[in-house]
Amino acid sequence: MSAPAKALGEQGTVVALCGGVGGAKLAFGLSHLLGERLTVIVNTGDDFEHLGLHISPDIDTVLYTLSDRANRELGWGRKDESWNFMKALAEIGGEGWFQLGDRDLALHVERTRRMRAGDRLTDIVVDFARRFAIPSRILPMSDDAVRTSVVTRDEGVLPFQRYFVERRCQPVVEEVQFQGADSARMSAEVEAALSSADLRAVIVCPSNPYLSIDPLLSVPGISQLLADASAPVVAVSPIIGGQAVKGPTAKIMSELGIPATNATIADHYGDLIDGLMIDEADAAEIGQLAVRATISATLMRTDDDRCRLAEDVLAFAETLAETGSGRRP
Ligand code: GDP
Repeated sequence: MSAPAKALGEQGTVVALCGGVGGAKLAFGLSHLLGERLTVIVNTGDDFEHLGLHISPDIDTVLYTLSDRANRELGWGRKDESWNFMKALAEIGGEGWFQLGDRDLALHVERTRRMRAGDRLTDIVVDFARRFAIPSRILPMSDDAVRTSVVTRDEGVLPFQRYFVERRCQPVVEEVQFQGADSARMSAEVEAALSSADLRAVIVCPSNPYLSIDPLLSVPGISQLLADASAPVVAVSPIIGGQAVKGPTAKIMSELGIPATNATIADHYGDLIDGLMIDEADAAEIGQLAVRATISATLMRTDDDRCRLAEDVLAFAETLAETGSGRRP
C-alpha cells in the first residue's frame, strides 16, 4: 500500500458520504490517508428489523471494510465466517432469505441490545469502530428511522431488503421512497462534522446515488449544509462505461428512463457538488458534464487502488478549493 499522503495539507477534516460496498472501498482509502481527520457519514435507509434484530447493512460494511474484517470473496459480510446459525435456523423453519453469519451475528445482537436499552445508534457505531481500532469516525446519517422502499411496476411497494436481497433487484423500479425522512433529524455529530470550520472537503463516494446517497440527502438539513459548506463537495461516479461496477445502479437508471452516463450522475447531484471524478475509460464524456470534472482510474480492485483513488480525489478537491469551483467563489 502507498504511504499515508499529506493530502489536503496536514490539517483540516474531510467528510465522506457513503453507502455500502462501492462507497466503503473509497472510504477505506480515505481512512488510510487521513485517519482521525476523516468522518464517514453512512446511509441507514437500508436498516431493517429481522429476526428481532436491528440490522444496519451499510454501516456494518463500512465497519468491516475499514477494519479489514470484510469478506472480499462474498463481497458482503465478515471474513472467516461460519454459518452454523443459519443451518440451525433452517432446521427449525426460520426465515433463510437474509444470510447472517455466526461472527456477523454478534454485531446485530449487541447493537439491538444496546438500542433497546436506550443507546443512540450513533454512540453504538462510534463504540464499535473504536473497538475495531478504526481511526476514523463512522456516523449513521441519523438516529431516527429512515426506511428506503422501492415502488415496483409489478410487485407493489417493497421494503429495501426484500427488493435487494430476497428479490435480487429483479422487479422493475418506478420510484424510490424514504419513509420517515421528513421527520428525521441529523445527529449533532453529523451537523458538527459538516459545519466544521476545519472542513477541507466533502467526498461523495461512488455509491448508488438513488439507493445509497439519496436517503442520506433526504435527511432534513444535510443538503443545506452541503450547499453552505465552504469546502468543495466532490463526487466519484459509480458508473464506468455505461455500467455499474456492481449492483443495480445502471438497471435502475434505465428503468427510471434516464441514460446510465456520467452526465446523468452530474445532473442528479446538480448544485450539491462542485466536481465529479469520472473513470479514465469515460474520458471522452468530460466535455458533456455540467460540472467541473476530472478523470482517474476509479475501479478499485486492490487496497492500493483504493488509496490511490483517495489521493486523487483529495487532490481534485484541493484544486477546486484553490481555483474556485465555478459554483463557489
Ligand atoms: P451497496 O449499498 O452495497 O450496493 O453499495 P454502494 O451503494 O456503496 O455501491 C454500489 C455502487 O458502487 C454501484 O453503483 C457500483 O457501480 C459502484 N462501485 C462499486 N465498486 C466500484 C469501484 O471500484 N469504482 C467505482 N467507480 N464505482 C464502484
